Amino acid sequence: MTAVLVKGGTVVTSTETLKADVRVENGRIAGVGADLSSHEAHIIDATGKLVLPGGVDVHTHFNLEVGGLKVADGFHEGTRSAACGGTTTIVEHPGFTEDGSITAPIANYRKQAQNNCVTDYALHGVVAKVGENTKDDLAALVREGIPSVKVYMTYAGRLNDEEMIRVLEIMKAEHGLVTVHAENHEVIAELTRRLKDEGRLAPTSHPLSRPGYCEAEAVERMIALSRAAGNAPLYIVHLSTGAGLEAIRRAKAEGLPVYAETCPQYLLLTDDEYAREGDDALKYVLSPPLRKREDCEALWQGLADGSIDTVATDHCSFNLSQKTARGRDNIFACPGGIPGAETRLPLLYSEGVAKGRITLNRFVELVSTAPARIMGLAPAKGDIAPGADADIVILDPERKVTISPETLCHNADYNPYEGFVATGWPETVLLRGEAIIENNEFREREALGRFIERSRFTE
Ligand SMILES: [Zn+2]
Repeated sequence: MTAVLVKGGTVVTSTETLKADVRVENGRIAGVGADLSSHEAHIIDATGKLVLPGGVDVHTHFNLEVGGLKVADGFHEGTRSAACGGTTTIVEHPGFTEDGSITAPIANYRKQAQNNCVTDYALHGVVAKVGENTKDDLAALVREGIPSVKVYMTYAGRLNDEEMIRVLEIMKAEHGLVTVHAENHEVIAELTRRLKDEGRLAPTSHPLSRPGYCEAEAVERMIALSRAAGNAPLYIVHLSTGAGLEAIRRAKAEGLPVYAETCPQYLLLTDDEYAREGDDALKYVLSPPLRKREDCEALWQGLADGSIDTVATDHCSFNLSQKTARGRDNIFACPGGIPGAETRLPLLYSEGVAKGRITLNRFVELVSTAPARIMGLAPAKGDIAPGADADIVILDPERKVTISPETLCHNADYNPYEGFVATGWPETVLLRGEAIIENNEFREREALGRFIERSRFTE
C-alpha cells in the first residue's frame, strides 16, 4: 500500500485548525505537522483546501424494504453517494421484521453489505418485540460489535413503556446505547383517523397528523423511562422540534446521559413544502414531518450551543415514482423518507459554517467526531490524529454546486434540496488511505468498505 502525503492544506479537527501536512502509511495517519516529507509517497496538493476527518453518518437506511417497497439505493449506491459527499463511515439502521427477530435482520444485512460498500459500515440493531430471548440476543449483538439498538414509539414495531424500560436496562448493563424514534403513536393514530374520516388525504394532512407536540411528549417520556431504567444512556434520533430540544436541554442540565441527533432536513426545510402543487409535495413526505421555521432556528441554536450532539441524515431514498404510485390519492399510504447522505456535509458547511451559524470546528464535531465517539467508532474514526484510520476529506471551500439529481450520484429520481447552491464541496475523499473520490470523480473499482466492529458505550 503506497504512502500518501496530503500537502499544504488546513487541517481541521473538532478542536483545532492548523496549516499542516498529513502523512498516511498503511491506511493510517502516521503524522500531522509542518513540512512533512515521505519517501515515495503519492502527493495530494491540498493548498487552499480544508483537510477534515471523513464524515460519519450514523443514521442511514440504504437497504430498507418496507411494505413490499425497496429504497432506490441499496448498500452500493447508497455508500457511493455518501462518499461523494464526504462521508467515509455509515451506521445503517435495519428495518424491523414482522416476527421481531433481533438476530435475523443483522445476519441478512451483513450478508448484503459484504463486499458491496464503498465506505466503511457498521450496523445498529433493532428491537421490535421484547421476550424471553431479548436479553441474550442483545448481549450477543453487543459482542458482535453492535452496541446500539433502535426502538420505535410508533409504527407496527413499537414497544410499550414497560418494554422500553426493559430494553434500556439490558443495554445499560451491556454498556450499549438505545436510540429511539420518539413520536406519540396513539395521538398520531387518532389524528390520522379524523383526517381520513374527513376525506383530507392531501399532503398538507401529513404534518397535521403528527404535530410537533407528539415528538416533544415522546422525548420527555423516553427520558422518564431512561430514569426508570437507572439513567440508561439514551440517543434521540432525528430530533425535529424546538419543544423536543427543550426537553433534551433540561435532561442534559441535570447531567442525564441523553444525546440528540438532528438531520439537515429539519434545519433547512419547512412544512411549507407540503403546500406545493401536484406531486412535488410528496417529495417531502417523511417522519417526523418537516416543521416550522421557528423549529429550524431552535435546532440551529442547539447545534451551536452543544444541546444537539450529532447531525445524521435518516437517508431513505424512495423514488418520487414510488411515492406517487402509493401516495397521490392518499398521503397516508405514501412511503416516507428522503435521500440525504450525499448533501449532509456540503449543506451543513454551506448553510452552517459559511453563513456563520456554527464554527468550522463545531461542524467537524457534529458530522464526524461526536457521532464516531458516541457510536463507539473512535479513536479509529472521527479525527485526524496519528494512529487514526486515514479517512480524510479534502474540501474545496470555494466550489459551488447547484443541487439536483443530475449533479449528485444517489439513485433516487429527485432531490429534496433541488435548487440549493452549496458553497464548499468535497473534492477528494480517502478511505483508509485509498482515494475513493479524487478530484470530484468517483473511482470505480471493487468496494473497499469493511464492517466495523464498534466498541461498547463508555461515556
Ligand atoms: Zn430512520
